[in-house]
Amino acid sequence: MVRIGVAMLQGARHEHCEAIQHAALEMNIAVEIVELRKASQIDSSIDGLILPGGESTTMRIASQSESLLDEIFNWLSQFPNKPVLGTCAGAILLATPGENREPFIDVEVSRNAWGRQRFSFEAPVKVSLETPEKSHESTYEVSRDKFNHKPLPIYNQAPITKDDFPGVFIRAPRFLEDSIKCQKIATFNEETVGVLQGNKLALSFHPELTNDRRFHRWLIDQIINNSS
Ligand code: GLN
Repeated sequence: MVRIGVAMLQGARHEHCEAIQHAALEMNIAVEIVELRKASQIDSSIDGLILPGGESTTMRIASQSESLLDEIFNWLSQFPNKPVLGTCAGAILLATPGENREPFIDVEVSRNAWGRQRFSFEAPVKVSLETPEKSHESTYEVSRDKFNHKPLPIYNQAPITKDDFPGVFIRAPRFLEDSIKCQKIATFNEETVGVLQGNKLALSFHPELTNDRRFHRWLIDQIINNSS
């Protein structure tokens, strides 16, 4: 059983939970999702982690009462080989140094650098990361209502092809090109929008708001390879 923690701080966390469920079905693998709300839930039994997008400042504030984010950072330092997917604000958290610690990914980010909310956009992204194919044709329902919150829309204008990924950029950060000291794995118009360091993947866009689960399959696959 693969155990994936999802930081339930704020933002598109429920969509990530659903994306993992779908990816697990597509790979025919049993996955347990641990919705991380309290520091005490985070320990060595978590095999991999998702840091969702949202608003990174709000996430920091939201986590203060339960010290969730601090404990997540401790976990990241303690288990440097466990796979992590950080999207948008989650990528910012991975790339930002803390008090007395280096960032978890060697890249500098500029927040909100595409402009305001209304300049959010959808565009095909070129991906150069090997991600596992679906091994199972599963049919599943998009059943976010069970999370008892108003679901975010699934975007589908950007065409899905084998190489291009439908990038959804919502007040996205930008990776500062000259600062990138890790692997570039995704580009939009020649600009890097996804980076990988070890098995920490940081994307400036929102894969959980599409129906393409390849990055979530990647996370599951990394966990399986990590523990074998
Ligand atoms: N603008 C947000 C921030 O700076 C990130 C946006 C997102 O995660 N969609 O934290």
